Amino acid sequence: MRLTVIGCAGSVAGPDNPASSYVLEADADGRAWRLLLELGSGSVGPLQAVVDPTELDGVLISHGHPDHCADLASLSVLFRYGPTQGTDLPPLPLWGPEGIDERVRQVEGATDDAGLEPFAWRAMAPGETRELGPFTITAARAWHPVPALAYRIEGPAEVGGRATLVFTGDTDLSDEVVEVAAGADLLLAEAGWAHRDINPPGIHLTGRQAGELARRAGVNRLVVTHVPSWVDPAPTLAQARAEHPDAQLATRGVIFTV
Ligand SMILES: [Zn+2]
Ligand SMILES: [Zn+2]
Repeated sequence: MRLTVIGCAGSVAGPDNPASSYVLEADADGRAWRLLLELGSGSVGPLQAVVDPTELDGVLISHGHPDHCADLASLSVLFRYGPTQGTDLPPLPLWGPEGIDERVRQVEGATDDAGLEPFAWRAMAPGETRELGPFTITAARAWHPVPALAYRIEGPAEVGGRATLVFTGDTDLSDEVVEVAAGADLLLAEAGWAHRDINPPGIHLTGRQAGELARRAGVNRLVVTHVPSWVDPAPTLAQARAEHPDAQLATRGVIFTV
């Protein structure tokens, strides 16, 4: 699998980095499969430089905050009025916690399901596992102020066999998130709280907590993401490395192979 970072700024798009969005690609059955993971504010433009959106096979959203799903409404507009208007593309699976469909309609100002085209929306519940092409996707409850999911995605490894990527979405540290991350080849963990903050519970991880999550879950690689543009990422990464020495930082445009 190949994970391309479209954007990874935490909480809002930064001056040179969109909010959360990643494309996960894998080769199977003689073709490439493409799963879009989040489409946060500012990401729908740069997404098009990386992949033709009509070649996406599915969209996975962690929760309904704008930095994770705001540009879904723009993607809907692109499909309905862009170059593919009138073509007969199959519905695009859109999965996430309850309420994402309503968020898209709200941003669109739509009152009916036309505002959800081309998406085939299906809510996903914690503990649920689904197949999408070569990907096996399991959702777990994340600890955040709105319904939120972390995802465990198993798919074809670049070196043969199968590999596992875990994405935390936004979450505080919890046993459920440790459990879903267990033994992952790559953990993409948010660190939305600055290293200096005294933080309220149930919202984000610090760099140290992202590292603690990686250590407790026994993951192979840790990639720290969702650092807000106004936070110096160096101390966040140093904190994560105190717990997991090989931790890396997600940056826009980087491709991680799994
Ligand atoms: Zn966020
Ligand atoms: Zn959030």
